[in-house]
Amino acid sequence: MAEQESTNNLIHLGVGGGSKVERIKKESAYLRGHIAEELAQESSHFTEEDVNLLKFHGTYQQEDRDQRRARRAGGEEKAYQFMVRSRIPGGVLTAEQYLAEDEIAGRYANGTLRITTRQGFQLHGVLKGNLRATIREINEALLSTLAACGDVNRNVMACPAPLASRAHARVHEIAHTIAMHLAPRSRAYHEIWLDGEQVQTVQQEEGEVEPIYGPSYLPRKFKIGVAFPGDNCIDVYTQDIGLVAHIEGESGAEDERLAGFTVLVGGGMGMTHGKAETYPHLALPLCYTPIEEIVEVVETIVTIQRDYGDRQNRKHARMKYVVAERGIPWFKSELESRLGRTVQEPRPLQWNGVDDHLGWHEQGDGRWFLGLHVQNGRIKDEGATRLRTGLREVIAEFRPGIHLTPQQNILLTDIQPAQRTQLEARLAEYGIATDPDSLGIRRFALACPALPTCGLALAEAERVSPTVVRQIEDELRALGLENEPVTVRMTGCPNGCARPYMGDIGIVGRTKDFYHIYIGGDQPNTRLNMLYAQLVHVNDVAATIRPLLEIWRDERGASETFGDFCHRVGLEYLRARVADASQPVDVHA
Ligand code: SF4
Repeated sequence: MAEQESTNNLIHLGVGGGSKVERIKKESAYLRGHIAEELAQESSHFTEEDVNLLKFHGTYQQEDRDQRRARRAGGEEKAYQFMVRSRIPGGVLTAEQYLAEDEIAGRYANGTLRITTRQGFQLHGVLKGNLRATIREINEALLSTLAACGDVNRNVMACPAPLASRAHARVHEIAHTIAMHLAPRSRAYHEIWLDGEQVQTVQQEEGEVEPIYGPSYLPRKFKIGVAFPGDNCIDVYTQDIGLVAHIEGESGAEDERLAGFTVLVGGGMGMTHGKAETYPHLALPLCYTPIEEIVEVVETIVTIQRDYGDRQNRKHARMKYVVAERGIPWFKSELESRLGRTVQEPRPLQWNGVDDHLGWHEQGDGRWFLGLHVQNGRIKDEGATRLRTGLREVIAEFRPGIHLTPQQNILLTDIQPAQRTQLEARLAEYGIATDPDSLGIRRFALACPALPTCGLALAEAERVSPTVVRQIEDELRALGLENEPVTVRMTGCPNGCARPYMGDIGIVGRTKDFYHIYIGGDQPNTRLNMLYAQLVHVNDVAATIRPLLEIWRDERGASETFGDFCHRVGLEYLRARVADASQPVDVHA
């Protein structure tokens, strides 16, 4: 989720050599602000300055926008509530930690858990009076919300497959090491949420420093992901820093080892409608780094963004603009100068696709894992599908490992072969499907939360996405294309939290009920898609895409995907063909 309204309102209000948010960060005494004092007050919400600082602690102040009009008419204040996000490197947690999150969701939030597209958990609907207990109990489960949001390094993503190979294990270790290395060092988080000690003054804390970030932290949020070779399941090109592992030795053999990483820099999805200086950008290859040096190289890249990122204009503050405007040769030279040595050329990358890891898979150690689909990452009970209850019961009974995936799904790991049948039967009792082939294109769909909780949402996403996806699926079925793996990603605004500028079809909210439609991404997510249609009513999205599907069916090359076909023939051709087909036929001709 991108930043909320309050921050948005502060953009461009430059104060003292930076935006107002920059001043708030700098004067916060390392993320303290007045959060503790406000927390102790009876009010339902925080004031604007602390709302900005709360993000660093892993929570966004939101409101239930469904209630906005009625409350305003009744002269009541907004229905304030909080989203609380856990930072879970690589999406790996224990059964006990899952059960703790589930219990907290029931006790303090709206009774649902939401898996994020960065492999974390979000709880929605937490009231201010329950905020400290929520964050404290998450920490008691040995998880954390620190730096899950804010202008710092966010959750580090990693391929979630629990394969028993040494190289896979090392990828997860590296993701964890980087996450810990880049976590804020300020004691503010512990003071406010955990220790309950009186917050110390700035003067008392003079010795405290953030050795990597400094007192103003980063200009903007920062994202890192670690990919396993061949499988771009973490969308490596959308990260500020994307690391692609290089493995030496034979797969699964004694000599298999993780040797190093090709480092990519400058990815990012967010843009603003009507502002040409903002755009999605794919990360570009920078260098190859041996494993021993990777933490140092990552930290140094972070410091380049710290020093060169735009602190005047938050819409232009992501590292992608530094990379796009200064170029890779400049970036590499800056990196080398800071490291005091040269770096190696990036290695060639090859992608086989995106593995969503759904269904049953052998782990390589005699045990199995089961990938379960979670629609838009929302773990809830609805109708005959009692996903939340079923997962809770099964996880409590079988105690599997838990891995959250970048496609917002969940993997139950370390299952003994003899347990498979029983586990499937237990899931079936709650209406939970285990065969990914039964999902159709729902399997590949992503949507952000949008309304009613996200303050930036211009239109619905999660709540309408199942209908839109079903309508597209109906069109595919009518055209005999129902077995094609078409990806659909939908967001309620252009900030792009569900990465809609990648994949076959991106649907991006423009205003209430109206969307821009993007087409032409590729399956391994190495290419941005293209803006095809603007301001399409939500009821017309599938009908707008249908003629394109028909042309694809009739004219594609062997095994050519929808995105590849659209990219090859181009927008001009597609628009002309659709316009031709819509001409009325002259029956007298
Ligand atoms: Fe992110 Fe969706 Fe909110 Fe936009 S509407 S900021 S894409 S969660």
